[in-house]
Amino acid sequence: MEKKFQFSLSYLFIALAIFILLQNWLSPQINNVSYSQFKSHVAEKKINSVVISSTLLKGYEKVETDMKEPMFPKALFVTPRIDDRNLVDFLEKHGVDIIAANENTFLRTLLSWILPTLFFVGIWMFMMKRMGQGGGGMMTLGKSKAKIIAQTDLGVDFNSVAGQEEAKVELAEVIEFLKTPEKFTRLGAKIPKGILLVGPPGTGKTLLAKAVAGESGVPFFSISGSDFIEMFVGLGAARVRDLFEQANAKAPCIVFIDELDSLGKARGSGMMGGHDEREQTLNQLLAEMDGFEVNKGVVILAATNRPEILDPALLRPGRFDRHILVDRPDLKERVAILAVHSKGIKISPDVDLEIIARRTPGFTGADLANLVNEATLLAVRKGKDLVEATEFEAAIDRIVAGLEKKNRVLNETEKKTVAYHETGHALVATFRKTAEKVHKISIVPRGIGALGYTMQLPTEDRFLMSKTELLEKIDVLLGGRGAEKIIFNEITTGAQNDLQRATDIARSMVAMYGMNEKLGQVTYLQQANQFLQQGLFQQKEFSDQTALLIDEEVRKIIDERMVGVEKTLIEQRPLLEKIAKVLLEKEALDDEEFKALVGEGG
Ligand code: ADP
Ligand code: ZN
Repeated sequence: MEKKFQFSLSYLFIALAIFILLQNWLSPQINNVSYSQFKSHVAEKKINSVVISSTLLKGYEKVETDMKEPMFPKALFVTPRIDDRNLVDFLEKHGVDIIAANENTFLRTLLSWILPTLFFVGIWMFMMKRMGQGGGGMMTLGKSKAKIIAQTDLGVDFNSVAGQEEAKVELAEVIEFLKTPEKFTRLGAKIPKGILLVGPPGTGKTLLAKAVAGESGVPFFSISGSDFIEMFVGLGAARVRDLFEQANAKAPCIVFIDELDSLGKARGSGMMGGHDEREQTLNQLLAEMDGFEVNKGVVILAATNRPEILDPALLRPGRFDRHILVDRPDLKERVAILAVHSKGIKISPDVDLEIIARRTPGFTGADLANLVNEATLLAVRKGKDLVEATEFEAAIDRIVAGLEKKNRVLNETEKKTVAYHETGHALVATFRKTAEKVHKISIVPRGIGALGYTMQLPTEDRFLMSKTELLEKIDVLLGGRGAEKIIFNEITTGAQNDLQRATDIARSMVAMYGMNEKLGQVTYLQQANQFLQQGLFQQKEFSDQTALLIDEEVRKIIDERMVGVEKTLIEQRPLLEKIAKVLLEKEALDDEEFKALVGEGG
C-alpha cells in the first residue's frame, strides 16, 4: 500500500503549490498600512481614490491617461476601517474620489476559492475513477506503469555471446523457425512453445534470449517473474494476459521471462502455504501457453537457476518441455568472453587474456564483464593511457574475494579433488562395456548440483536394461569416490549425489526388478508417481525383516561393485593421473579430447 500513499501525497503537494501560486497571482501588490499612514498617504496625494467597504479602506492611485476610463490602479493601500466620522470630510478636502464598495470581490472570490476547490474535486474524481476500474484497487495504475514494450534492434546477436556453443546449436532451430516459419509449417512441424534456459545467474541467459531475437530480427518482450508478483491483488494474472495479448499482436516474436522460479514455484510449497496471487499468475501463464497456437510464431524463453523447484505443470509437454543448460564458462570460453568485453577498450599489449582466464575459474560471463570494467576504471583512476596487467590483477583479487564469500570458487585442493573424481567416473565408464560413452567432463563449478560433472550420452534409447547394465551404471557412479580414495587415501562429501543414485539403482534391482537371489522374483517397491510423490519409491507392505534384508543386499551390491571399481582404477592409475592433470589444466574435456588421451595410454 505504500505506493498508493506516496502517489496521493505527491498529487496533494502539486495541488497545494498551484493553489498558492494562484492566490499570489490573483492578488495584486497590496501594501497593508496603518490608518494614520493611510491618511498621510492621502494628504501626500499618493492616493486619489478610495473605496470604502464595511471593513476596509482601499486607496488607489489613479494613473493619468488620455482615455476616459481610468487605467488599472497602480498601487493599493489597505487599512482596516475605523469608526471615523471625519473621514469623508478629510477625503473630500484632499479631493479624493470616494467610491462606495459594492462589496464585489465576487470575481476574485470565485477565482481564488472556487477554482482550487474544483481542482481538488477533479483530482478526487480522477482517483475514484482509477480505483473503480476492474474493482481491483489501484491496480490499473500499476498496469500502465508496467506496460510491456517490445524491444527491437537490440544490437545483440550470437557474436555478442561468447562460448555457450551447445546452447547456440539448440537455439539455432528456433531462429530458423522465426525467420522462415513457412518451412516448418509446410510440413506441419511443431516448434517448441517454451524453452527453459537453466543456469546460474550471470551466465548469459538473458543475453542468449536477446541474441535469438536479434538473430531472427523479431521483437523481444522481456519481463521478470518477480515483476508479475506485485502487491496489488489480481495484477499478476492481468499482466500475463496483457503480455500475451501484445505478443500475439506482434508475432513472430520472443517473450523472455526471467526468474521463472519466482513465479513458477511448485504450487502449495513454501512456508506460508499457498500464495494465492502467485498461483493465479502461474495458472494464467499455463492457460496462455496452452491457449496459443503452436505455430503462431510466439516463442517463450524462460530462465531459471533453480529448475528443481519449478511446478511440474510448467515442464509438461507443450509448455517448457525443452531445457538448455547455460553453464559457467570453461577456460576456452572465458578467454572468448574476455575478448568480447575488451573490444573497444585500450588494453596494453602485455595483457594476456589467457592468463587472466586461467586465474578466474568459476567466474561467470557477468563476472568477467565486471572484471574488464573494474580494471579499466582502475586504470582511469591512475590516469593511465592503457589498461595494464596490474589493473587486471587487482580487479581479479577484488572480485575473487567477493565470490569466495559466496562460496563459488574452489580452492586448489578442492579443484584437484574434483578433477580426479570426475576422471574416475569417466575412466570407469570407458572400461565398462555397457556404460554410456563419455560426452564431456568438466570441473567448472556449477550453480546447480554437483561441483564438476561427467556427461554421458546414452548410446541408444533403452526400454530394457540388463542386470549387467545396471551394475555397470553403479560402477560409473562409484568411480568418482573410488578415484578420490586411491589418489588421496581420503574421501569427501562430493560423492553424495553419486552414492544416492547408485543406492537407488541397487535398491530397485533388489526390491523392484527381482534381480536378487535372496529376495527372489518379488517386487517390494513400486516406482512412485513422479508428480504426486516426492521420493522415488513407494512402499508396499512388507515385514521389518524383509526391510532389513533389502538394506543388507543393497549394501552388499554397492560394496562388491566398489571393490571392482577400485581394481579398475588401480590398474589404470597412470591414465587416471594423466587425464586428471590435463583436466585440471583445461577445466573441461570433450569426448574427442578424452578419447585421444585414453588412446595414448598412461
Ligand atoms: P543471466 O541472464 O544468465 O543472469 P545475463 O545474460 O544477464 O545473465 O548476463 C549478464 C552480462 O554478463 C551480460 O550482459 C554480458 O555482458 C555478460 N555475459 C554473460 N555471459 C556472456 C557470454 N557468454 N558472452 C559475453 N558476455 C556475457
Ligand atoms: Zn561424482
